[in-house]
Amino acid sequence: LPYSGQWNRKNDREKSPLSDGVSSENLRTHLRQLTREPHVAGTEEELDTARYVRDKFLEYHLDSVKIVPYDVLLSHPDREKPNKVYVLDEAGDIVFSTLGYQKPLYAPEESNHRVFPTFNAYSAPGQPIGDLVYVGYGRKDDFEFLLSEGISVKGNIVLARYGKSFRANIVKFAMEYGAIGVIFYSDPMEYAPHGDALVYPDGIYLPDMGVQSGTVKWTDGDPITPLRPSVPGTYRIPESEAELPRIPAQPIGYREAKKLLENLAGAEAPSRWQGALNVTYRLGPGFVRPDWKVKMEVHTENSVKTIHNVIGMLHGSVEPDRYVILGNHRDAWIFGAVDPSSGTASLLEAARLYGEAAKAGNPPRRTLLFCSWGAEEYGLIGSTEWVEEYANALADRTVINLNVDGSISGNKTLKAAGSPLSFQSLYSTARKVRNPNPEEVKDGRPTVFDTWLHNVPSENSDFPLVENLGSGSDYAPFIHFLGIPSIDITYKGGEKNYPMYHSLYETFHLVDYLLDQGFHYMKAVTQVYVELTDLYTNSVLIPFDVRDYGKFLRRQSQDFWKTFGNLLEKHNVSLVSWSSAIDNLTSAAEFFHGEHRESLDLDEPYQVRRFNDELMAVERVFINTMLPSGNRHMIYRPSSSDSYKGEVFGNLVDLLLESDPDWNEVKVGVSIIAQMIQSAADTLMGSI
Ligand code: GLU
Ligand code: ZN
Ligand code: ZN
Repeated sequence: LPYSGQWNRKNDREKSPLSDGVSSENLRTHLRQLTREPHVAGTEEELDTARYVRDKFLEYHLDSVKIVPYDVLLSHPDREKPNKVYVLDEAGDIVFSTLGYQKPLYAPEESNHRVFPTFNAYSAPGQPIGDLVYVGYGRKDDFEFLLSEGISVKGNIVLARYGKSFRANIVKFAMEYGAIGVIFYSDPMEYAPHGDALVYPDGIYLPDMGVQSGTVKWTDGDPITPLRPSVPGTYRIPESEAELPRIPAQPIGYREAKKLLENLAGAEAPSRWQGALNVTYRLGPGFVRPDWKVKMEVHTENSVKTIHNVIGMLHGSVEPDRYVILGNHRDAWIFGAVDPSSGTASLLEAARLYGEAAKAGNPPRRTLLFCSWGAEEYGLIGSTEWVEEYANALADRTVINLNVDGSISGNKTLKAAGSPLSFQSLYSTARKVRNPNPEEVKDGRPTVFDTWLHNVPSENSDFPLVENLGSGSDYAPFIHFLGIPSIDITYKGGEKNYPMYHSLYETFHLVDYLLDQGFHYMKAVTQVYVELTDLYTNSVLIPFDVRDYGKFLRRQSQDFWKTFGNLLEKHNVSLVSWSSAIDNLTSAAEFFHGEHRESLDLDEPYQVRRFNDELMAVERVFINTMLPSGNRHMIYRPSSSDSYKGEVFGNLVDLLLESDPDWNEVKVGVSIIAQMIQSAADTLMGSI
């Protein structure tokens, strides 16, 4: 009987029978195991973690488990020659040198000899010498501000502070403005605002020699096989033709950055660029002693290495050809206790619950794919190559991609990004999970939803804010290349980013002692994950709600028209079809979830399948298959100035922000959006 089985439910309000089974103890054990050694992509230790995950998937009775390797271009520093930044005097002698590594402070593993010296992946190697310019947060506006002050970075080395945008975008801007090197640091204003007493290991804030590693490559996937999977025999372009950083980049500690800032000459930096170091931040260029120079010595090199995805599959009992993907990356910058290993622990716990249930006679209705990605930190490489390899099958069959990167980085609130189709599923699952903070429960916020709404309210509704999908984790190739609806969740603290992000001090101690004693928060977010999985895997009707897409498009379009409307009108760009397409989508969605839904006979498999197929088609409609780029989604995409950020109508925004927009291109862009929205409406009405 196709619809028998206790989970082939018709009611989304029910709680999953599995989520109470999430075990804090199991999460803790996985995290302990996964964080013993550094597990950087391309190393033996990373392969060990792949084997650990594979063995667990097998132990949990998944139906098929594979380690999927790809040979891709990675980047590593030289263990013998750490990267350095120097201040040189007029004779060229070293007045000051950075250390090149982070000092072990507490956990024994911090002294592991396999920890790499500090580096930014895909930095060009080199030894540039020049004058230093402080560029604030290194955004386009910051470089423009400097130009307006008469300061060019051309031929100079820049000092940029982390914290407002994706570091690869900063390097790209630095290159475009002519800089010959980029030095990054984390200012205590963002990363240690409460002084030395609360830095690791006593608190969660970044010590003065702590360094944020991270890639500075701005394209996704293996840079030498753009838009093709890195399978054996695939043509690899020469590295010289690949889109890669061409200048050195290197992160340093704030104690070291202070030495550079103390010596810097020039005008005072604006107050928005002043930080919490006890110096007056100046712009440069150059030092107070004009003959002193800054020198970078970077030995980071690119080379082809093997990375590993682990793909575990649990066959669906009713719809084996419909996939719900659970994804998390496994490679870390060092120990990765938050990023990504807390998420790996959550993924493993979800796999255990579903695998054991299947074994006990309750297989999922749809197929579950548990994906442990390799080399995310190098620019989403494992997930992107796999999406490129299986693009057609995945686009045809995948209901949703549920991504979790680090599952917990703080204990304040849930945070989610997702397609508008998934908003209701996020609200309803967060309501099913108890707030892990007993104080808040006493204050009248009994569920994860309540604390989420309290901390992250949205502007225009009674619901919490679900952020737009940008990039920065492995959901990106699914949504932006294939139009597979995606969700990304995490539990976070109050900071924009947790201070220990990508540093040596992202250890087991950080999570076990400082962030989540008892693993209650990691348990709660894992329960949300398990609930989402249940909803998408076992509901007869896929729990997407297109009405929210209609509302989202209306609000976003209105904002866009408000900003650019006059300009568009002046250049005869008509918004009529765009606006009527939104009206049509709104009424189509009302019909679809109203009359059409009510007329369905849920015991008729073909009717159910058709309804679900129509829902799956909605997001696909927004993919412009004509584009030769990884970002083909026309409603939102990673912002070109900060790819962490999801930018709505990003292609149009970019065209319009050009100094002399090509108005025909703008008209084409507007037509494409209007037509796509209309096409979403037609899909729901079954009319072509
Ligand atoms: N999550 C990684 C980072 O933030 C990689 C992001 C990306 O390349 O898009 O550094
Ligand atoms: Zn991550
Ligand atoms: Zn990361």
